[in-house]
Amino acid sequence: MSKQILILPGDGIGPEIMAEAVKVLELANEKYSLDFEFSHDVIGGAAIDKHGVPLADETLDRARAADAVLLGAVGGPKWDKIDRDIRPERGLLKIRAQLGLFGNLRPAILYPQLADASSLKPEIVAGLDILIVRELTGGIYFGSPRGVRELENGERQAYDTLPYSESEIRRIARVGFDMARVRGKKLCSVDKANVLASSQLWREIVEQVALDYPDVELSHMYVDNAAMQLVRAPKQFDVIVTDNLFGDILSDQASMLTGSIGMLPSASLDTNNKGMYEPCHGSAPDIAGLGIANPLATILSVSMMLRYSFSLGDAADAIEKAVSLVLDQGLRTGDIWSQGCTKVGTQEMGDAVVAALRNL
Ligand code: NAD
Repeated sequence: MSKQILILPGDGIGPEIMAEAVKVLELANEKYSLDFEFSHDVIGGAAIDKHGVPLADETLDRARAADAVLLGAVGGPKWDKIDRDIRPERGLLKIRAQLGLFGNLRPAILYPQLADASSLKPEIVAGLDILIVRELTGGIYFGSPRGVRELENGERQAYDTLPYSESEIRRIARVGFDMARVRGKKLCSVDKANVLASSQLWREIVEQVALDYPDVELSHMYVDNAAMQLVRAPKQFDVIVTDNLFGDILSDQASMLTGSIGMLPSASLDTNNKGMYEPCHGSAPDIAGLGIANPLATILSVSMMLRYSFSLGDAADAIEKAVSLVLDQGLRTGDIWSQGCTKVGTQEMGDAVVAALRNL
């Protein structure tokens, strides 16, 4: 039976990078006889313009019915001033929560060809291959109560809540251990257990889950130390598992070790490995419409989709190989360009990956 893929390009550079990723996906579909069918819809600012909300019910229904979702990015200055509850990012949080996509996989891999593009010395980052597993549907981004209240002295006070239940921690810990088991067998759980009650429970449950994974070496690290270690000696990490807020920040930090956030894909999975796949970066309004955005993070998100939702490891490997070959040819978008390389735009980069994949 054919597999349904829902494509949500979003805003800003979203449609530009998505066009290139779809070319790669269509070629993979044909080359490997994958029997994928595609449908397109709007999310974020584009959905606000069309429906008045960042995620229409009909779009959510289509996402539920699809086997996987490929998303670009949402947001932009046009929608920055509107009511907080219907801002573009709310659409993203809603689709993640409604589809139960609690497990966010964010690899930070340094392609050897891009060692010069990293902000750290090549010897610190050469060969870097980290996977950050971030909890995505709980914690402070979803906790209630939240809001702004007036204190007795008339001053306003803003507050958020950081809740984690045992089952939420247990299921993300399992994702972390499962990933570590098929990689370097090292899992570092990042928390703030010296201060936060939620982190104390986090640590206790991770320790319990560890009993089922005697082959994986578990360590714990406070988030402030993890931020420091990521720039001091990032290669000490194999898999990091952490909560929603810490994972958001640490994965952006890890992205810079690899040269550009424009290189980093992500997968968000539910308990059955149904997933939504998207680049780690945002809609980059500063370069939207210029045709210079790096499409590789979105193309690599396609490869993650084939690997994690459809167990098509060979086709996923081929896309990653095609990206590597294009980098070997010296082609670079502006964000990863260095002296001696050929600067190309979004479309040329996409075309080069398609050509490399066709020839594999
Ligand atoms: P951003 O990731 O959009 O951009 C940060 C910087 O990285 C910018 O200089 C941008 O030009 C550059 N950049 C990002 N992607 C790139 C690419 N593919 N190629 C080349 N350069 C790239 O983050 P921001 O500026 O903080 O946010 C912009 C908008 O995106 C905001 O509205 C924000 O809310 C939204 N956002 C959306 C997502 C998402 O959809 N998942 C994630 C983060 C931010």
